[in-house]
Amino acid sequence: MQKYFKYQFVLVMFLMFLIGISSIYFLANIYFTTQNMYEHPYRVSNELKQLRISIHQINLASQDSADIDFQKVGQQDSTNRLSLGEIAKSYQDDIAEVTLLKQLYEQWLTTRVYSADSELIGPAIGEQEIFNQLLAEIEVMSRFADNNAAELFKKAQSDALLFAVYIAGALLLAGVLALYLYLRTLTDLREVAANRKQYRYLIDQNVMIAAVEQDGSIFEISNQLSRFLAMSKQSVLNKPIKEIFFSENGQFEEMWQDVTSGANWHGELKIICDTDTKWLGVDVLPMQDSDFSYSGFRLLAQDISDKKSLEHISITDTLTGLLNRRTLDETLDRVTRVAQRHKESVTIAMLDVDFFKQFNDTYGHAAGDNVLTSLSDVLSGMFARANDYAFRVGGEEFVAVFNGKDVETSLAYLEKVRLAVRSLNITHEHSKVDSCVTISIGAVYFDGNGLAEGQLILSDADSNLYRAKETRNHTVQTIHGKPPPVFETD
Ligand code: GH3
Ligand code: MG
Ligand code: MG
Repeated sequence: MQKYFKYQFVLVMFLMFLIGISSIYFLANIYFTTQNMYEHPYRVSNELKQLRISIHQINLASQDSADIDFQKVGQQDSTNRLSLGEIAKSYQDDIAEVTLLKQLYEQWLTTRVYSADSELIGPAIGEQEIFNQLLAEIEVMSRFADNNAAELFKKAQSDALLFAVYIAGALLLAGVLALYLYLRTLTDLREVAANRKQYRYLIDQNVMIAAVEQDGSIFEISNQLSRFLAMSKQSVLNKPIKEIFFSENGQFEEMWQDVTSGANWHGELKIICDTDTKWLGVDVLPMQDSDFSYSGFRLLAQDISDKKSLEHISITDTLTGLLNRRTLDETLDRVTRVAQRHKESVTIAMLDVDFFKQFNDTYGHAAGDNVLTSLSDVLSGMFARANDYAFRVGGEEFVAVFNGKDVETSLAYLEKVRLAVRSLNITHEHSKVDSCVTISIGAVYFDGNGLAEGQLILSDADSNLYRAKETRNHTVQTIHGKPPPVFETD
């Protein structure tokens, strides 16, 4: 559309240019014709009229040959000679006519006024006859000049008419073209507007997008996104982005710092809608004005709930909901690295149900499963702080990772866990250490100093569990890097 518009615009401009140039040509033509008319035929005609009057006046002044008014005749004569000069200059027909006129005038004047005194002239022709010839010649020349003037006038008239018709035609054409262009542009613009509207509608219905002011309040949100949030558009508009999307303060701070410094931010946001927990993959992009100043942000979101639930399934144990064996190695590595870097302590503990085989044998596998879920409830409740982790790593084996503050507190906390399991009071008549279900714990405390490897600590914890199993319903904890305390043997 823009291409056509450009061509049509160029055409109109070209037409205007043509009209301008040809107008100048026409006007110049009319000017020169008119000037020609005044400079030549009109001048000749006027001079001839003057000459005729003057000749009559000389004729009158020399009526009485004895009493000729020579002063007046002389004056008239000199005027007439000037006139003859002008006529000679401007007469456009045969120059012989002018010569004849001059000759006749000379002849007549000499015959009429000076014949008595002068011998200059040849054999006199009758004065009246010359006079008549002179007037006739003036008449011939006047007619020619008048005709010439009339022709030029006619030409100027037809030029002006042609010019008027031409200009009117050209203006009409330019007008029609401009109107056509206007209507076509209007149609095209309407089409563009309709397309844009349809495009916006598609985005509104299918893309999760929101526009955010510089102060962080939402000023536009797509239907698709408000549907996802299970909120009406009206209830979202003008609300702070933080309130609607960010349940974790730290995540908001990080995003805000990024986008206000001009960087894009990407993150995964947990959205809690009534009973549902959903996940959004979100990009927050700073928007720039034409002068490159920031004018707000766009938030683009994607429903990643399915991905998140798959992720959750892949890292958790289906029976207990605790983290599974697969995530243990990665967590151990990370946790020990962080502990070393920040010189923070960490405790890694292995927990195992005592005489569980007997429990299953006595009460059945389903009852055994119930024990495992009750036990994991205790674990997830007691290892619930930000850097705590609880794993189910085997049938009735669990691993807990937590920040133990110091070696005594760490051991005391594990004892608390062991007693909490006992406090479930699940009867186990075939346990050799108690009447209820109990667990044994082997743990290693790492104070954050020196070198440490997650897997190594875990295998030490396993050794400690083995030692705890010697008595069962017992907790054994050592300090990483230090030899285990010597136990008394019977
Ligand atoms: P110990 O006191 O030495 O730990 O003896 P134990 O019987 O607990 O240990 P052992 O390793 O001999 O037996 C573990 C038992 O745990 C074997 C199996 O029947 C049971 N078990 C393993 N996974 C599951 C499970 O998913 N559900 C149930 N109900 N039982 C399980
Ligand atoms: Mg076991
Ligand atoms: Mg066991």
